Amino acid sequence: MKVRIEPRDECLGDGICADECPEVFEIADDGLATVTNTDPGDDLREACQSAADECPAEIIIIEE
Ligand code: SF4
Repeated sequence: MKVRIEPRDECLGDGICADECPEVFEIADDGLATVTNTDPGDDLREACQSAADECPAEIIIIEE
């Protein structure tokens, strides 16, 4: 699965994604979320999907 944040400049910096799946998302020094693992395994699928579902900016994209 491929994960990205796009467009990143629309991130609100609330950290919801990092709370849902810290293995894949973190808040970077600029205050916006970044993807630390762009190709996570299936074991993280549910957490990544939760992050995408709960992102208020709807900018987390998950592709197979
Ligand atoms: S949940 Fe969305 S808006 Fe919030 S920090 Fe993550 S990418 Fe940014």
